[in-house]
Amino acid sequence: MTTANKEVWFVTGSQHLYGPKVLEEVAGNSQALAAGLNESQKLPVKVVYKDTVKSSAEIHQVCQQANSDKNCIGLILWMHTFSPAKMWIAGLNELRKPWLHLHTQFNAGLPWGDINMNYMNTHQAAHGDREFGFIGTRMRKERKVVVGHWQRPEVLEQLNGWCRAAMGWAESQSLKVVRFGDNMRNVAVTEGDKVAAQIAFGYEVHAYGLNDLADSVNDISDADANAQLDTYFQEYEISEDTLKDDYARERLLKEAKLELGMQKFMDDGGFSAFTNCFENLAGLSGLPGLATQRLMAKGYGYGAEGDWKTAAMVRIMKVMGQGREGGCSFMEDYTYNMTDTVDQVLGAHMLEVCPSIAAKKPRLEVHHHTIGVKCDVPRLLFSAKPGPAINVSPIDMGNRFRILVNEVDAVNPPDNTPNLPVASALWEPKPNLKTAAAAWIHAGGAHHTVYSQAVTTEMVEDFADMAGVETVVIDDDTNIRSLKSELRYNAAYYHLKQGV
Ligand code: MN
Repeated sequence: MTTANKEVWFVTGSQHLYGPKVLEEVAGNSQALAAGLNESQKLPVKVVYKDTVKSSAEIHQVCQQANSDKNCIGLILWMHTFSPAKMWIAGLNELRKPWLHLHTQFNAGLPWGDINMNYMNTHQAAHGDREFGFIGTRMRKERKVVVGHWQRPEVLEQLNGWCRAAMGWAESQSLKVVRFGDNMRNVAVTEGDKVAAQIAFGYEVHAYGLNDLADSVNDISDADANAQLDTYFQEYEISEDTLKDDYARERLLKEAKLELGMQKFMDDGGFSAFTNCFENLAGLSGLPGLATQRLMAKGYGYGAEGDWKTAAMVRIMKVMGQGREGGCSFMEDYTYNMTDTVDQVLGAHMLEVCPSIAAKKPRLEVHHHTIGVKCDVPRLLFSAKPGPAINVSPIDMGNRFRILVNEVDAVNPPDNTPNLPVASALWEPKPNLKTAAAAWIHAGGAHHTVYSQAVTTEMVEDFADMAGVETVVIDDDTNIRSLKSELRYNAAYYHLKQGV
């Protein structure tokens, strides 16, 4: 995708008080630590060691360099020794990239037989990092704080997660979303303030008429569409009947042109996410099904019915989760399985569920689409892999944004669904449907979400912190009374935070 050249800078804070010998040791340890992070192969981007900074001017300089370096997606800051924090004010005032405060120490255990004051003065992150922490809090700076010895697996995992959030944030700054047509008429939650979204998240949203897209689709040659069919037949299960059926083949060719036409339109325009709406399909052969599913699998974000907020979030979370187990899809809470023993949600959409979440090789079938627009549409059928997942919903509260997360457990469906012509995911929300759905509704969560098994709650929280946007997490600890209080406190906090 887009993160091959991205890097996180490692900056160690100190001061001149200790003299050159200690500073040499500090620099050597910092280099070794940064190298160790790279060698762990646990982080998704390269860690680049920058010098130990020892003065206000050096701190200011490295912060300015980070701001203007297009490959730098964030900074890890660590005070190996004491670094009087007034020296950090000018730099932190200007720093525009996300930063993480790593509260660690070069050596894990103390050398009891050898420890002396020299050792104590060299390894004093225990109080150096507290002085630095104060100025971050005093300046009301959002940042991640990770605590523990830097070689511990859980510390590396937190660094990994934060780097992924920073990848998502960097993506969000340059993301362009294309809207083919407008929002579904009368729907509230898919609306929103695109200017406010660009200010908060960086991404741009642009609308195009369907004639522009139709031109791009019609420009796809029969030869290219035919070649695309071979790819379909290789990648998916397909029945002999469908393979022999001329009408199915004609629909598949039209779908291939939709896929290639939409992709060309997006690539030519620099778009990495898109929306469409079944109410605006003029000039197209139908509502794209397989085409949209495949574009999502290639990494494009998607939101149905004009839902540009979810489209952007699908793309951002695909970037955050890249290279990890588990996929990421546009999703909708569709219908419930409420029985004496379980409460479950069957998630799906009219057509557009990404095969990156499939438990096994999807089946390619052509079925009649009956909602909103009537046409025969090729689509992929599968159910989602069981295991932990999250549903994420970015919503516009009118004066600000909120990102909701519900942790869920995906499960295998108890039975076959021979008459269901769409892909689906079955899950049990945490802590249970009764609490989760009440919490979701109180918080104003949408019916559209981003479903992912690759991205964690903590990554989404880190991303929202980078944006300065509220996160509401619904998990095993949620209870409705405290959630309602949290929503009220947050309403006051985010209102005050915005100023006049
Ligand atoms: Mn929908």
